[in-house]
This record gives sequence, C-alpha cells and structure tokens, in this order.
Amino acid sequence: MSRPCPCTSKVPYDRCCGPFIAGTKVPESAELLMRSRFSAYALGKVDYLIETTAEAERGALDREDLATYCRNIRCVALKIIARTAGGPGDETGTVKFHASLQVNGKRQLHVELSRFVREEGRWRYLDGDTN
Ligand SMILES: [Zn+2]
Repeated sequence: MSRPCPCTSKVPYDRCCGPFIAGTKVPESAELLMRSRFSAYALGKVDYLIETTAEAERGALDREDLATYCRNIRCVALKIIARTAGGPGDETGTVKFHASLQVNGKRQLHVELSRFVREEGRWRYLDGDTN
C-alpha cells in the first residue's frame, strides 16, 4: 500500500507526484508540476524544487533556506482555483491555488497565482503573486 500523495489528490503518491519527484516521469502540464512542487515542499525534496525552478530564477534560491522552510511548514491541503494554458501544447501557463499550511504551528492560507514556463521541453516555475 502506497501512502496518499501529499498534494491531497487522494491518489497514492506512487501514481501521483512520486514519479515526477523521482525523475522517472515528466509532468505534462503546469498544474501537474505545481502539484508535484507542493508535494516536494511537503517532503523536503529541495533538489526537485530547485531543478523545477526557471533557470533565470534559480540563482536567487538558497538550498539551506529552502530546507529550513520545508522543515518549518506542514502542507495540509492544496486546492487549485484556476488555470490558464499550461497544457502539453503550451509554452507558458498560470495556476492559481490555495495552499493550507501550518507554519511554525500556526495555520496559514497561502494564495498564489503562479507563472510557469516551458524550458528545454519541461515545465518550470517562474514566479508568483502571493496573497
Ligand atoms: Zn500528488
């Protein structure tokens, strides 16, 4: 029995975000990438968070900061509110989501409109407007 996926899809991790994070499958849509990044935050998969960030933004990331952030939050639930483009035939896309988090023990609703771009054929997170 596989554990449920942290992205709260109700699908087992091995058949949801697991293969993306393990690198055995590539997410075909911006939404799937977004879900897998939520799971990566939940599981502290810092390498995956870095490699799925657009090249131009990667330099701003600090591995230790990301790892600390992952340790200090609990990803409670993810709800996709809206999306534009981001499909197999697109080069850009947006996903708006509500992420229920627990930050240092306090419940927090993180609302973000994320922008995604395709680089080297793969979806990557560019940036986002929060709350
Ligand atoms: Zn998932």
